[in-house]
Amino acid sequence: MTQGYGKLFVCATPIGNLEDITLRALRILREVDLIAAEDTRRTRQLLAHFDIHTPLISYHQHNTASRIPELIQRLKSGENIAVVSDAGTPGISDPGQELIQAAIQEDLSIVPVPGPSAVITALVAAGYDTNAFVFGGFIPRSRRGKREALEQVAREPRTTVLYETPHRLLDTLRLCAEVMPERDMAVCRELTKVHEEVVRGKPSFLLEHFEENSPRGEFVLVFSAVDESSIPSAVEEPGEELTIEERLVELLEQGYDKKTAIKTVAQERGIPKREVYSAAINLPASPPK
Ligand code: SAM
Repeated sequence: MTQGYGKLFVCATPIGNLEDITLRALRILREVDLIAAEDTRRTRQLLAHFDIHTPLISYHQHNTASRIPELIQRLKSGENIAVVSDAGTPGISDPGQELIQAAIQEDLSIVPVPGPSAVITALVAAGYDTNAFVFGGFIPRSRRGKREALEQVAREPRTTVLYETPHRLLDTLRLCAEVMPERDMAVCRELTKVHEEVVRGKPSFLLEHFEENSPRGEFVLVFSAVDESSIPSAVEEPGEELTIEERLVELLEQGYDKKTAIKTVAQERGIPKREVYSAAINLPASPPK
């Protein structure tokens, strides 16, 4: 690398919980000459929280063409620059990649400063095979693009991670129920935040869940590797050998009320609750005394 040039630090920031910033990221954000931020207002809040006063400049998808030459020039003049996005790791479904590529072209040093990213956080939270996985970024918006992307996931044997927005979640789950009804999947919501939630099951179960609980916040979808048939259960020993009715009776005898027992069985089997209701129709409403 050329002597006298500054370095480009690619700096991950929290995806929700501010405690997730690393000590190294804090030091670098404090020490660099300039921070190139996707949204300067948002990054200013983060910096204020940690009492950091480094100058900011905007770098986002709409000004890359003009900003990149300016940032490269400043790096060449010896300034150290950190690039950050609104949340998580720059370059992962966020601005960063084009600046990194331009800096590499100019023989500048790239220093990754690792930290949170929703893709890895969701992958481990989902509990599926992590030996090999596919990350597909955001699910396409268009009907056709979305269908093609999900059909590709249906054929993909490895664990697959996709980003989705809350207002498109139900439509996406409907399509998942159509193209891969038997696939186990996890919907990871608001990771690292107060309302963090990971809901696992077949697409039809998840659809029903989010029809009842309106999708709010940020979402990652994780599709299990295809040879994984079992899902982690909220209740010990799901008793897969039992019929639905037998399993319901077992739960009622353990002291669960009927509503919770129905929800639990639906979750364990990854089936819609309405399928469990019919088996539950002749059972008592509350646990036997
Ligand atoms: N660069 C970021 C990263 O490293 O994860 C991703 C930025 S992308 C513009 C934003 C998307 O990431 C959200 O729409 C959501 O799909 C996902 N995401 C970010 N934070 C999240 C969180 N706390 N919980 C769940 N999903 C999150």
